[in-house]
Amino acid sequence: MLHQSKDELLARFQRSKLSTADYITGIQNRDIVRLSQAITLVESNSPKHSAQAQEIIHYALSQPKRAMRIGITGTPGVGKSTFIESFGQLLHAKGLSIAILAVDPSSPLSKGSILGDKTRMATLATLPNVFIRPSPAGDTLGGVGRRSKETLAICEAAGFDIILVETVGVGQSETIVRSMVDFFLLLLLPNAGDELQGIKRGIMEMADLIFINKAEGENILKAKLAAKQCNNALHLFPKKASDWTASVLIGSALHHEGIDKIWEKIESFYSLTKSNNFLQQLHAQQAEYWLQQSIAEGLQTLFEKNKRTQMQYSLLKEKVLNGSISPFIAAETILATFIKTISEEN
Ligand code: GDP
Repeated sequence: MLHQSKDELLARFQRSKLSTADYITGIQNRDIVRLSQAITLVESNSPKHSAQAQEIIHYALSQPKRAMRIGITGTPGVGKSTFIESFGQLLHAKGLSIAILAVDPSSPLSKGSILGDKTRMATLATLPNVFIRPSPAGDTLGGVGRRSKETLAICEAAGFDIILVETVGVGQSETIVRSMVDFFLLLLLPNAGDELQGIKRGIMEMADLIFINKAEGENILKAKLAAKQCNNALHLFPKKASDWTASVLIGSALHHEGIDKIWEKIESFYSLTKSNNFLQQLHAQQAEYWLQQSIAEGLQTLFEKNKRTQMQYSLLKEKVLNGSISPFIAAETILATFIKTISEEN
């Protein structure tokens, strides 16, 4: 950053002097500036921030979980941000506070970042009790996932009623978002017959609701046909553990049509899953998922930092590539070295 305004400099100066208690009070008061600073700290890779970041995460995770956490996915251009702009306004009119986050595995170089630009939700961004957090800049998907989960925990501790988590329909990001939300909404275009738009079976199976967007004018017929096809596809999936039956709605985010029906569905979902205790079970399963993910990430980091193991990895990789040793034997040998080095270090 070449030019910094006085305000930015002041904010930086204040940030460097904030205590953990300052951050926590800011989170408790839902002070948007402090909240953003706390999230920036938690997203930071710098070891000098890590102790304070851990304290904030620890605080956030110990707070009661009462937010409705809703995931939104769909291919770029389907209308996710237009939908959030419309849906967010509806929620705001009902007096609900909203945080909007993104899980975006794209690298900063690809400029594929979603939510990077707040102007995409121009009206929503100006409303009180609405917090829009752009996606963290590119990293490994695992890293982005973990940090997004922590950001979500901070927003939950700040007491938002609704947390919307947006993701692009690529790679593993849906699985990551699915494991941090209660309700999962898939947006599709009214292109009937396009093999369900290349949407992977797994993504459809994760959805609690499908919304066919851009259903206007002559698109309405196409949207109805697409809805029928999606319904047929949904019937082929096994019954959900939540007892919830996924369904399909059509509408237009741009013209605010069908958005209220989505909210009705979400409310029904919560009343069902609270009464049958599914939400509680889901939260426990998600906690286990994040435990496993963190262990896997921790092991990966230890492995990558271990010089002796890395040297052996480079040597054996050559042999695996030229076919002189099997990848399985090489992996066993490398892991044995890793375990030996770790135990010697301790
Ligand atoms: P995202 O990439 O999924 O976030 O998609 P955007 O919300 O940025 O929308 C992509 C384009 O589709 C924009 O030009 C929107 O104005 C347009 N769009 C979004 N929703 C609708 C809709 O319901 N009807 C129409 N006609 N256009 C829409």
